[in-house]
This record gives sequence, structure tokens and C-alpha cells, in this order.
Amino acid sequence: MTHAPPGAIDCDIHPVLPSVKLLLPHLDEYWREHILRRGLERDSFETNAFPSTAPINARPDWTPAADTVETLRTHLLDPMAPAVAICNVIHGAQMMMSEDLSAALCRAINNWLAKEWLDRDPRLRASIVVPIHSPDLAAEEIDRMAADPRFVQVLLLSMAELPLGRRQNWPIYRAAERHGLPIGIHAGSSFRHPPSAGGWGSTYLEDYVSYAQGMAGALNSLVVEGVFHRFPGLKAVLIESGVTWLPASFWRLDKTWRGVRAEVPWLTRMPTSIIRDHVRLTTQPFDAPPHQAQLDLIMEELGSDEMLLYASDYPHWHYEGADSLPDGLSPDLIRKIAFDNPRATYPRLAVPAIA
Ligand code: ZN
Repeated sequence: MTHAPPGAIDCDIHPVLPSVKLLLPHLDEYWREHILRRGLERDSFETNAFPSTAPINARPDWTPAADTVETLRTHLLDPMAPAVAICNVIHGAQMMMSEDLSAALCRAINNWLAKEWLDRDPRLRASIVVPIHSPDLAAEEIDRMAADPRFVQVLLLSMAELPLGRRQNWPIYRAAERHGLPIGIHAGSSFRHPPSAGGWGSTYLEDYVSYAQGMAGALNSLVVEGVFHRFPGLKAVLIESGVTWLPASFWRLDKTWRGVRAEVPWLTRMPTSIIRDHVRLTTQPFDAPPHQAQLDLIMEELGSDEMLLYASDYPHWHYEGADSLPDGLSPDLIRKIAFDNPRATYPRLAVPAIA
């Protein structure tokens, strides 16, 4: 593993929201009273799949993970020196069965992010947290938060109630495209369905490995349902789900499309070509063997040096120290991954060009 260059754009970090109580000042009067009457402020609504305090989940030197900007500076911003880091808050707010409660908590999280994080360090940007099971309310929240240029993306989870490409979800994509915001699809589930299509597994190992299936399914759905045809300005960033599963998906999707493309007349070119134009992936966890030849093969099969975006995935434990990039990347490719590709993906990043 190797260091990311100083001034890189870090496309995936995770600030921690330890308690709903912290959201009370950021809720309107109705929802503040609603939450207090139900005692919900005593819960964290943390997603139990990846608890931020689990020793296996966060690095010992990054534990407890940052719930303040000061800790984030000590852990990440000062030692790794990114020019910009994009905050992705993974939280139960997106997964609630009550669409109204979900929307209220997502609004509060976005307000909290702006005031407690973005106002306090000019290097920070954030993704808009939205109630993903309520596309109309999600679109309203995108319209509200898009007024703040420090919000650079819309945050979704790879496994929701319906496959992401289904038309019920299109209000989200319409709003994102309208504001020039990519959709960031983070590995994760709202647990309406098991991560493996065959049913629930019984171990963390099985669960975690299955997440790549979930991301592959999300991408398949977006492409085949025609989301990128209907919203040609939309980009999707696949976050924290590895990279090496994609070439196999490419081959299978293109091959099958050739035979049955009459079924999907909106796919007027090879699915792989659509994916190369519209889809990006973050680099952590980089799930390739540590051999130069393997890395070269993966890059060749991806067929583009514009698809990968640098991410530290703070505070998850994928590597030690500041060595957050795989070995064997050429200086040109590192430059593209750390600077050029993120800038091209996120038009709202006002980062000075690196000389
Ligand atoms: Zn992540």
C-alpha cells in the first residue's frame, strides 16, 4: 500500500453521529416534541451492521471514530492532508419505516452536518442524506440542500426497498440531475431484504462478502432500467464496495444485452460503454491481490482510467497508517484518481488545480 498525495480529494469519510439527542437543535418544533415524547433521543439509530465502536470495524488509532471536527483533524485531516474530504453519514435515519420520521431525521442530519462540520473546517464537503424510501420527500430535501454548494452529492444505499433503477425512484435522480449532483451509492442496506439474494446468512463474513452482490445488483438495475438514458447528465459513484467484481459484471451484461436488447430499446449502446461514461468507484476497500500483474489486468478490464476516485474510507480498518492506495499504480494514474477524476465527477468541488 502507498500514501495518497497531499492535497488529494478524499471521496468517502464517515463522521459519527453518536446520539439522536444531538439532532434536537436541528429539528423543527413539531419533530423535536415528537422525538422527545417517544424517547427517541436516547437512541443512536446507528446501523448495527457496522457499529462505529466495534473493534473490528474501526482502526484502533481511529477509535472512537470522530464525532467532532477536532477529532477528525487529529485522525485524518492533518496527517493525511486531503484538500477536500466528503462526509458520508451512514445512519438509520435513511432506513426508517415511517417516511415522515425518516425525512425529518434526514433534514436534521443535513442541518447538523452544515453547522457542526462544514462550518468548522473549510476542507469538508458532504453528501445529502435523504429518506430513500420516499422519493418525493427525498427530492424535496435535495432541492432544499442543493442551495448550499458544500453539499456535493446525494447519498443512497445500494440495497433499499426496491432495486435502485425502478421508476418509483426517478424523482431522486431527476432532482440530482437538476442540481448537477452525482448520486453516491454507498455499500449498505436498509434491511428490507437480505444482502444475498438466497436469504439471510449467519455470519458477518458472509454478510460482508455479499455486499458486492448488492452493489452489482444496484448497478445492473440503474443501467438496465434506463436511468442514464432518461437522465443523461447523471453520474453515480459506487462507494466502499470494492472494484474487482466489476469486470465480470461488464462481460456478462454486454454479452446478454447483445442477445436480448429488443427488450430494452433505450439501451442503444453497449451497457459497458454507458457505465464507463456515468459510473465511478471509490478506491477503498481495494479488493485486489497485491500483485502488479493483477492490478494491471483489472485496470485493463475496466477499460478506463477515469473511473476510480480516491477514498480513505475513514475510520474503517482496511490498511495501516496513511497507506491508503494500492501499490503498483503509476504516478499518472495516482494523479487521476486523487485529483482529476474527483474534480470531473463533482462539479461543485472548487479545488485549485495542482501545479
Ligand atoms: Zn465508506
